[in-house]
Amino acid sequence: MRRKLAAGNWKMNGTAAALDELAALAEATREARAEVLICPPATLLSRAADRLSASHVTLGGQDCHAATSGAHTGDVSAEMLRDAGASAVILGHSERRADHGETDAEVRAKAEAATAAGLTAVICVGETLEDRENGKTLDVVRSQLDGSLPDGSTGDTVVVAYEPVWAIGTGKVPTVAQIAEVHNDLRNSLIQRFGGETANAIRLLYGGSVKASNADDIFAVAHVDGALVGGASLKAADFAPITAAL
Ligand code: PEP
Repeated sequence: MRRKLAAGNWKMNGTAAALDELAALAEATREARAEVLICPPATLLSRAADRLSASHVTLGGQDCHAATSGAHTGDVSAEMLRDAGASAVILGHSERRADHGETDAEVRAKAEAATAAGLTAVICVGETLEDRENGKTLDVVRSQLDGSLPDGSTGDTVVVAYEPVWAIGTGKVPTVAQIAEVHNDLRNSLIQRFGGETANAIRLLYGGSVKASNADDIFAVAHVDGALVGGASLKAADFAPITAAL
């Protein structure tokens, strides 16, 4: 029912030379059953779209502004991302929440802009190590989910990525029981807010140090509909086996 999704977040990595690796990634994932989404830096989007014009790989941005245009130096609108070839955008990544102080309300406004521009918003939520050690994981994640998702969200307009902050880029991964607890809770929260039919169409990704060696175990967890992958999405040889595990 929910198509699996392998999403790659290239973060602030890659110049034109990386387009060859992107083409290699597309070739290496050609047989994938899952949808493959790569989010390169905005500077590469339109060239990536040209390079992958005949490919199954879809492209996304890593952030957008909530406004459609205007005096926002350095920012990029959802419509601009769409124009450059994106069909999705990552929003509320913990690095943006930490580096730019993004609040849930801002993430929600950006998600509304993404929907208006026809982009799927991949909305990230996740607790810090301190939250987890203080037993606050579910409270934090519920509150981020509640505050960041627009009213009227559907399986077409949003994907939710559960990314424990302490697992991103660290090689540390929660146990499958910890992932299961959060994903189950996310699904229940979505059902309460949007009703069963809509909630069950919204994909829930896990993100945080996913690699080929742990992908099978993570993808076997109920309500894990795919992954948001950082480091291991930069090389076709690392990303293809993760995609194949879906
Ligand atoms: C991410 O940046 O969203 C991420 C999950 O990174 P990594 O896979 O490198 O932990």
